[in-house]
Amino acid sequence: MAFIELENVTKYYSDSVCALDQVSFQVESGEWLAIMGPSGSGKTTLLNLLGCLDQPSSGRVRIGGTETASLNHQELTRFRAETVGFIFQQYHLIPYLTALENVMVAQYFHSMTDEPSALAALERVGLAARAQHLPAQLSGGEQQRVSIARALINQPRIILADEPTGNLDAANEEIVLQILERLHDEGNSILMVTHDEKVGRRADRRIDLEHGRIAQTTVFSFEENENFDEVLEHMWMAIEGTTHNEATHFSEAERRRLTSTMTRIGLLDAQMNFTEEGRRRAASVIRRHRLAERLFTDTLDLRDDQEIESNACTFEHILSPEVTERICTFLGHPSRCPHGSPIPPGPCCGRE
Ligand code: ADP
Ligand code: MG
Repeated sequence: MAFIELENVTKYYSDSVCALDQVSFQVESGEWLAIMGPSGSGKTTLLNLLGCLDQPSSGRVRIGGTETASLNHQELTRFRAETVGFIFQQYHLIPYLTALENVMVAQYFHSMTDEPSALAALERVGLAARAQHLPAQLSGGEQQRVSIARALINQPRIILADEPTGNLDAANEEIVLQILERLHDEGNSILMVTHDEKVGRRADRRIDLEHGRIAQTTVFSFEENENFDEVLEHMWMAIEGTTHNEATHFSEAERRRLTSTMTRIGLLDAQMNFTEEGRRRAASVIRRHRLAERLFTDTLDLRDDQEIESNACTFEHILSPEVTERICTFLGHPSRCPHGSPIPPGPCCGRE
């Protein structure tokens, strides 16, 4: 049984307003799902049903095997507090409480005096130093991080986020997405509403709503992201004039499908050139690949080109930013791969 199951969920606000119309889908534990669609398509309604803030007019919502409609008011309140953490576009912080107090008001199992765990939650979002500040003394990005800490305080099994980056600039959007990414890596289930293609792509899968119905489902699996990386890498090397050792294993049709998705999600422009983000991501893959090659030759003394290449191809997809920077530093910030091609510098190199 899937962790979250929706079966023919319909929501009428009145006789004439049908916000959700026979919606069915499942979410596995640990999955990150993006819910997308134009304004008024039912995204918030769907999130509210998942968060037990509202009940469907018909159909079933099952979470962890519990059918939410079977719970009475008191059970529902408890279930919600134990199971879901909400992150909203507007933060919804209480203006006259400090960051720490805002996190503490959401504590469910603990008394108001369990300050250490609230502080620990702020620490996780990098805001321990701002614990005593009021919301008005924090930037929008910081306020959203406080609201994330508040969502995490009861260790919910599901994180529900309604346009969590909707009010943020690009830099803060990235910080919030990285926090969500970490929560995802730790095994949390995340359901996130967004209308931004780029934000949606950070999820494993996306569901597009239109007029309260599922119009489309798109899977961004690990494999698909590897495919995007592969295409970016080929393009980088074509521009650089180096040859790619690996046989191109995409058919023409597959490549067309990939580049069209990559255009839609902002990695390539209409002329099939890198966007700024695409270029950055390509440089990052190339960097990881070439640092891995250096590591294998310099440190592990591997000499077989074929073996180096195939291992580097695995490594480039799984190296986290932190480990990449450590390897680079460990190797003394090399500027060239073993074959002499340049390694794009990273934050640790001080030459970006
Ligand atoms: P989205 O989040 O995708 O913009 P919503 O779920 O907020 O969409 O709304 C879906 C539809 O339901 C819209 O037509 C909206 O006007 C209507 N709606 C949402 N909330 C209510 C409500 N509390 N009462 C009446 N109609 C509502
Ligand atoms: Mg909405």
